[in-house]
Amino acid sequence: MSQLMDVVVIGCGASGVTALRKLHDAGLKVLGLEAADRIGGRICSVPFGTGYVDIGAAWCHGEKDNKVFELANTYNLLGRPDSEETKCFVYKGTSSEEAEKIIDILENAVTVADKNNTKAISECLRDAVNSRRNLSKDPQLVNAIVEWYERNNHVGGQNDPRTGKSLKGLEEHWPCEGEIWLNWKGRGYKTILDVLLNRYPDPSKEIPVQILLKKEVEIIKWRSADDQVNPLVHVKCKDGSLYAAKSVIVTVPLAVLKERHNHLFNPPLPAEKVNSVNNLHFTILGKIYIEFEKPWWPAKRSNFSIFWRDEDKARFSTSEKWITEIHGLQTVEHQPNLLLAWIYGNGAEEMEKVNLEGVKAGVQKLFDVMLTQYKVTTIGNILRSQWTINPLARGTYSYRSVASEQSGANAVTLSEPLFSGHSPVVCFAGEASSHHYHNSVHGAIDAGFREAERLIDAFRRKLL
Ligand SMILES: Cc1cc2nc3c(=O)[nH]c(=O)nc-3n(C[C@H](O)[C@H](O)[C@H](O)COP(=O)(O)OP(=O)(O)OC[C@H]3O[C@@H](n4cnc5c(N)ncnc54)[C@H](O)[C@@H]3O)c2cc1C
Repeated sequence: MSQLMDVVVIGCGASGVTALRKLHDAGLKVLGLEAADRIGGRICSVPFGTGYVDIGAAWCHGEKDNKVFELANTYNLLGRPDSEETKCFVYKGTSSEEAEKIIDILENAVTVADKNNTKAISECLRDAVNSRRNLSKDPQLVNAIVEWYERNNHVGGQNDPRTGKSLKGLEEHWPCEGEIWLNWKGRGYKTILDVLLNRYPDPSKEIPVQILLKKEVEIIKWRSADDQVNPLVHVKCKDGSLYAAKSVIVTVPLAVLKERHNHLFNPPLPAEKVNSVNNLHFTILGKIYIEFEKPWWPAKRSNFSIFWRDEDKARFSTSEKWITEIHGLQTVEHQPNLLLAWIYGNGAEEMEKVNLEGVKAGVQKLFDVMLTQYKVTTIGNILRSQWTINPLARGTYSYRSVASEQSGANAVTLSEPLFSGHSPVVCFAGEASSHHYHNSVHGAIDAGFREAERLIDAFRRKLL
């Protein structure tokens, strides 16, 4: 067993790294244990094209009350998108005005809907369509746009209505004011980790905090039966190594907690926390970066929305069905030859299982069938995400579903510490524990600060 720590932080994504920095600055003895062979978690910037691309988080969403913005803006690290955006609707035989009118109706229905209930957003969309018989002369177009809207907004609930994103959750999720598509000027979101660890702008000033990689935590024994006066938390990793601390902060993703909480905690989590772990939900979203010989799209900043008609879908076999779930394509800032394709839900899960050559062939067929009006140039390299296959992520980010509202599951319960007497011995951070900013890096960072401050206060008050 290594030396006794004040705090062990489990998982070193944005939330864990934030907590480590704050605790270190407060003079506490801290250690980070990270299962992967890198820090960052769902921040993952990789070299591709002419620079870096992000297969996880890519944009800082907003400015006001946004910790990422505050940290990055100090060093002028964030870039704004081109103000001119060209929107292209990919659907045969319709005018843009017709599509825009339908999208406006859907958007308005969600905006004005009563949010103080347990209803799903998808239900609200269907109601909006069903209550307007003359919405369009082209019912197939309406269906295609509703399907696109649901995918583009990660509405969910198509297979099981209880897993659909709730209207109430929409209200409880606070957008930050200001520009919501701030990019990292080609450096990648990983730069925020450098800022947090104080290795940007001067790498020699990096804080000397210990982070151990390839340390997958298997057991957190949090109530010591033989020492009630001075209880310690014992952490065991898959490689057999053991760590003891006065407290721990758990930052593993919600989807990982869902899969592992039964074995991870000894004693097990209390019932109300298990309820929140089980009944908050996790979005599945995929990204495919596509490199072209040269740009062929209409403008430097272009955004394609793909509306799938049944006859277009019919041109793809069962094993190619995932391709018909790609709902959008967009240009990538600071990468003139790249497009980013978005895929959601089952389609994203299926795409993850296909080998890279198969993904490339699928993307090629998408262009051959759906984008015939453009002179698409030769596809070069492809890079795609695989967040669901990854046992350390199991998906993209958390959301509040119909089941969350019905069962009373929420981020506040998820964020409650486990106490030994009056001592908060196991704390919970990570994006899913952020009540108003979940699903974002700024939410993850907020949660990291929140739990670090809780423990700093507990140490100050000699509760630990
Ligand atoms: C495709 C995609 C696009 C996104 N786009 C954006 C965006 O544009 N803007 C935005 O703000 N947010 C975005 N997000 C969300 C954002 O990435 C996350 O909310 C945020 O990074 C989560 O940080 P975290 O520290 O809570 O969790 P994570 O980053 O997941 O960190 C948790 C860490 O725990 C580790 N871990 C797991 N199990 C164990 C274990 N047993 N033992 C030890 N370590 C373990 C993991 O390896 C990981 O490093 C996106 C996410 C994805 C996947």
